[in-house]
Amino acid sequence: NRLYRLRSRPEGEVTADNLEWLEEPVAEILDGQALIRTHYLSVDPTNRVWMSAMRSYIPPVELNAVMRGAGVGQVVASRRDDLPVGSFVVGLTGWQDYCVADAASEDMSFTVLPDPLPAPLPAFVGVLGHTGISAYLGVELGDPRPGETVFVSAAAGAVGSIAGQLAKRRGARVVGIAGGAEKCRYLVEELGFDACIDRHAGDWQKQLDDATPEGIDVDFENVGGEIMDHVFGRLNIGARITLCGLVSEYNDYNEDNAQRGLRNVSQLLMQRATMRGFIVFDHVDRYAEIIGQLSLALSAGTLHSAETVVDGLEHARHTLNRSLAGENRGKVVVKVITE
Ligand code: NDP
Repeated sequence: NRLYRLRSRPEGEVTADNLEWLEEPVAEILDGQALIRTHYLSVDPTNRVWMSAMRSYIPPVELNAVMRGAGVGQVVASRRDDLPVGSFVVGLTGWQDYCVADAASEDMSFTVLPDPLPAPLPAFVGVLGHTGISAYLGVELGDPRPGETVFVSAAAGAVGSIAGQLAKRRGARVVGIAGGAEKCRYLVEELGFDACIDRHAGDWQKQLDDATPEGIDVDFENVGGEIMDHVFGRLNIGARITLCGLVSEYNDYNEDNAQRGLRNVSQLLMQRATMRGFIVFDHVDRYAEIIGQLSLALSAGTLHSAETVVDGLEHARHTLNRSLAGENRGKVVVKVITE
């Protein structure tokens, strides 16, 4: 069983000292347990949060524990009636080849996927998994109406790229921000965004202003920091901010530098805005309904998803670092299975 153990909490990028790459024997399963072989591991910004001591919606990964992570895999041995051998499942597999799913552990709850699979396996941690569901829930929360302007940060990422398309389907004008001209071209020409700003451009603030001449009604916020602050300055009366993530602070979070330099918070007051955070994992009761809606849109060709697949579990740490640096597009997954 190849796996990563968290040995120390990273400062900045995750190093090989923080996350040790090891090989250990595959565990024997007991009554009430099943053995799952990971096929694809989801690479998420929240992995970086879980490695830190930041107060979060679940406790940090304990030092020396196997790194927590979502994945999709297949049951290869089972002493659990609800997880039959051969079934494909999604859940917290961890950063490892094999995991033991224990019926008594909440962290080890897995969802069995339909047979036959309605989509390729990586989709179940992407557009038909927690990222697509987050996009759906966040757009629903922001409730854009036809003609309104929706702004999406980290727009070429897993959540943002789906959120923008869902807002378009509601008749809104959608403006994104992403790192690089190629990502912007992709969002406008292939996903139908109305405009996209390259966050690396020297005059991105002016470009953002020019692209939102009628202000911003809904902010689908994935990033925080100076981009969110600039958006605050463009909010319209009654604006809604869906607070999905604050990825700009994950790599260097500490109590002194979190969300420093916000200057336009007053606009939340002046424009009578509503800002609301949400965590996808609180809405498990709606997953089936939302996956149904997203699947319909995918098969009708009105929703598109992009995936970056990186081959080899041994590249997971590096892939997370690259993703946080904005080097990938769409949903990033690591292909774990080697044959
Ligand atoms: P991705 O890894 O697909 O996208 C992250 C992107 O953020 C990067 O590619 C980069 O894109 C951008 N980024 C990174 N650092 C910065 C920075 N300093 N300033 C501006 N942009 C930056 O992530 P996801 O789409 O999976 O997640 C997006 C957000 O949603 C995250 O904040 C995540 O934590 C959150 N999330 C929240 C959930 C919830 O339940 N609330 C569930 C799932 C995700 P680029 O260079 O193109 O700008």
